[in-house]
Amino acid sequence: MRYCTKCGAQNDDLAQFCSTCQGALGPVSGGYQPMQSVNQGPMIDWKTQGADKKLVAGICGILLGGFGVHKFILGYQTEGVIMLLVSLLSCGMLAIVMQVIGIVEGITYLTKSDEEFVRTYVEGRKGWF
Ligand SMILES: [Zn+2]
Repeated sequence: MRYCTKCGAQNDDLAQFCSTCQGALGPVSGGYQPMQSVNQGPMIDWKTQGADKKLVAGICGILLGGFGVHKFILGYQTEGVIMLLVSLLSCGMLAIVMQVIGIVEGITYLTKSDEEFVRTYVEGRKGWF
C-alpha cells in the first residue's frame, strides 16, 4: 500500500498514479521494480525462425528438385524420400516430372516473404507446394 504525497489517498503498491487525484506517485522505493522492455518490440526475426533456409531451399528446388534436396533442407524427410525414390526407381523417366515440381516449389519458396515462408513451411509444415 502506498500513500499519495498530495492527497494522502491509499493506492496499490505498483500504482504509478494516484487513483484519487491522478498525481504521479513517483518511483517505488525499495520495492519491486518492473523491468523496462523498451527495446522489445513486436518485430520477429524471421531468419532465426527458419526463413534463412528460404534461399538455399529455393535454389536447390530449382537445380536439384528432382532428388527432393529442397525437401530435406526444410526437414520434410518423407516428401524428400518420395521424390528421390520416384526419380531413381523410374530410371529417370519421372525425374523430369519431379524436377518440374522442384522448380515450381523452388520458385514458390523464393517468391514468398520471410514471414510467409516461416508460417507456411516451418510452422505450417506444408509438404507440397
Ligand atoms: Zn492523490
